Amino acid sequence: MHKNVSASRKLWKLGSKDWNTQYFDFNKDGDLVVKEGNNIYNIRYLAEKMGTSLEILFPFIIEERIEDFLDLSFQLSKKVGYKGKFFYHYPMKVNQNKEVVMAMVSEGAHLETSSFNDLWLVKKMLEQESFNPNIRILCSGPKTDKYINLIDDLQHKGVKIFPLIEGPNELKFLQHSKYDVGIRLDMPVKAASYWNKPIDRFGFSAKEIIDMGSFKNLKIIHYHIGSQIEKLSDVIGPIKYALDVYFKVKEKNPSLDTLDIGGGMPIPYTRNRSYPVDKLMDKIFTLIVKESEKRGMPHPNLVCEWGRYIVAPAQITIFKIIDSKLISSKKADAKKWYVIDGSFMNDLLDTWAIGQKWSVIPLNNKRDDKLQDVWLAGSSCDSDDIYTGVHGSVTLPDYDMNDGEPMYIAVLDTGAYQDPLAAHHCMLSSPLKIVAENGHIVVARKRETPDEVGKNFGW
Ligand SMILES: *Cc1c(COP(=O)(O)O)cnc(C)c1O
Repeated sequence: MHKNVSASRKLWKLGSKDWNTQYFDFNKDGDLVVKEGNNIYNIRYLAEKMGTSLEILFPFIIEERIEDFLDLSFQLSKKVGYKGKFFYHYPMKVNQNKEVVMAMVSEGAHLETSSFNDLWLVKKMLEQESFNPNIRILCSGPKTDKYINLIDDLQHKGVKIFPLIEGPNELKFLQHSKYDVGIRLDMPVKAASYWNKPIDRFGFSAKEIIDMGSFKNLKIIHYHIGSQIEKLSDVIGPIKYALDVYFKVKEKNPSLDTLDIGGGMPIPYTRNRSYPVDKLMDKIFTLIVKESEKRGMPHPNLVCEWGRYIVAPAQITIFKIIDSKLISSKKADAKKWYVIDGSFMNDLLDTWAIGQKWSVIPLNNKRDDKLQDVWLAGSSCDSDDIYTGVHGSVTLPDYDMNDGEPMYIAVLDTGAYQDPLAAHHCMLSSPLKIVAENGHIVVARKRETPDEVGKNFGW
């Protein structure tokens, strides 16, 4: 007999738009499935067939999220009478996987690059004619000679490309160049985000930008205060500040027509919802309309670069439990260690770097009636290679190695940042990566052999 599916669905918070799990469910055998229209992917089956550790990317989730987001923005801008143009730029550093970027572009996203190598991928896409020539590219990151030459090259080929000036040296050679440029504003406003540091590493103060006077090619005021901004007011406050700077700078720079508010829209990793995107977008458009009309000025175009928000829910990471061990200390919040056949430190590195929290669920609901508070340990030898949950432990079905059937878990929302940060501590191989699309499974990255991992170290 199998457990009650609706109870399991509720227990693991599946099937809910609030948690971005509307595509996830358990089937009649209790296996975790992901539904793409009429296609259904049985995740337990894929884990058994492909082996673990395993990453599964679902491009259709990206496509749906972009489509919903662009529709929503269009509806809200009409509703509040916003007359500017709205551009969504996908920041490629969040996940450069080809299927991710292609899914973005196919649904109307523009791009933002963070380096020469990022932009190199854009050039490859251009050569393969895989995007619409109207696409717009914003270029962040240090403008090395190579980077500038590539910007030049793409501009010659007709791509609409905008370097964003981030430092004094870049200012010198971009201020009066042939490019339309943006300039990065250093935001002195505090926000509840790990990345909102009280140091002015990037960009220029408002006063510095205003004092620069006029340059003919200035189009964009850009800022980025941090990722996963937990409070709505911490998004709105900086926009208000930036709009004030925008209108002051526009007095001497009539070419200026766009405000770029960077990234930061959060993901409910811990299933504690912060603020809904429609409420935020409504507030943003309303604020721009109000501040523009107060000054009798045209509404600036708006750019946003929310990466994590679109991509994180489109990938999951699967591990098998390969050992369990009782925790003897009575003071511990957990009773057992579960050891996984992958590594938090390598494969989900933010767990270690910034204390990232995750939603962890089983791939089958058969053991759902007996739950256990556990800690998860990675396969490296490092005592830091652990995940101890949102409130001191991870709740998972109780598991006894001796009961014969393997137990698998899925870590949800792993699509943002984890692949680019991945490492090879203890020479462990990265997870096999597959892409599930239109009912087909394609291997995007084979399981690394010892020779392949060794190559990184000169072997
Ligand atoms: C990292 C980054 C982003 C993306 O931030 P998210 O929190 O993922 O939305 C956007 N713009 C810039 C300039 C960035 O550095």
